[in-house]
Amino acid sequence: MTNQIASDINSKTWQEQLSTAVSHPSELLAILDLPGGLLAGALKGDAEFKTRVPYAYISRMESGNPNDPLLKQVLPVDDETLDVSGFTMDPLSEQDSNPSNGVIHKYKGRLLLIVSGACAINCRFCFRRHFPYGDNQLAGESFQQAIDYIKKQEDIHEVILSGGDPLAASDKRLKKLVEALAEIEHLKTIRIHTRLPIVIPDRVTAEMLNWLTGTRLKPVIVVHTNHASEIDNNVASALRKLKRSGVTLLNQTVLLKGINDSADALANLSHKLFQADVLPYYLHLLDKVKGAAHFDISEQKAQNIVRELMAQCPGYLVPKLVREIAGEPGKTSISV
Ligand SMILES: *Cc1c(COP(=O)(O)O)cnc(C)c1O
Ligand code: SF4
Repeated sequence: MTNQIASDINSKTWQEQLSTAVSHPSELLAILDLPGGLLAGALKGDAEFKTRVPYAYISRMESGNPNDPLLKQVLPVDDETLDVSGFTMDPLSEQDSNPSNGVIHKYKGRLLLIVSGACAINCRFCFRRHFPYGDNQLAGESFQQAIDYIKKQEDIHEVILSGGDPLAASDKRLKKLVEALAEIEHLKTIRIHTRLPIVIPDRVTAEMLNWLTGTRLKPVIVVHTNHASEIDNNVASALRKLKRSGVTLLNQTVLLKGINDSADALANLSHKLFQADVLPYYLHLLDKVKGAAHFDISEQKAQNIVRELMAQCPGYLVPKLVREIAGEPGKTSISV
């Protein structure tokens, strides 16, 4: 680890670590001692979706390895500019279930709030590459409108904070939101879908534990991890801290070609997650978003991988294989 990286991780707050994130491919290549020949393709991908990766995440990559499974999630490549049939700008058609600004109500009993359009990291395979969610967020008067909408929908028992990454918002703002939600009697659970504790483990602050566990709502966090190497000691200790405070911890993974497309890779991930007090939840087939076709795994290959995983792991370490299909009333489970 270079001194620059060590000092970033050891002496900066999570907000400072967010603001010093690497945002140019040439810097990423230089830090990791990678061949300059990768730059031309990286610049093409970067022109479509900006590079963004904090030092804390880079610190877990292997220097000199262009196939590092963490690097491949964040380094733009030429292939992102390919036009592949079936891969579109808005594969989930989420505009159709948008009753109020920042609210996505697609599934029965639970509802999603877009708390922040920002992410700590730009994952190359993400559907967000075409949707910064800039104008569909819970800010200003949208906040009260969303609360009013939830109050009227008495069958909703769970609110999911999503984004972007909801934990990119300040603890002050999140505390206010959770307090307002706790006053709605029919709500029972507050769930947070986030990658931040994985990307910058210092995001798990004492203040965060306060608003998250000081509410009558039952707290659940679903983190997003794709490879065992993402879980270093700092990440594991942040996750254990959440668990010890009473938060239910689950993980979702996206199945990605060249990154985690084997039973061994997924078994290692499940075991590492379990050591950090997290249970696997979903294994997603890639959303067919334009620019991500080079990560796609066929449904049949995915089924084979999960079958093999079932033979290697106890049932509680096998995530459920799913795909999101626009218009369906929930994630579509793929049988194996
Ligand atoms: C994934 C998702 C949920 C939550 O689904 P669960 O199956 O409860 O995890 C809710 N709303 C939307 C729009 C989603 O994409
Ligand atoms: S929404 Fe999640 S997968 Fe997409 S860029 Fe942000 S952190 Fe990565």
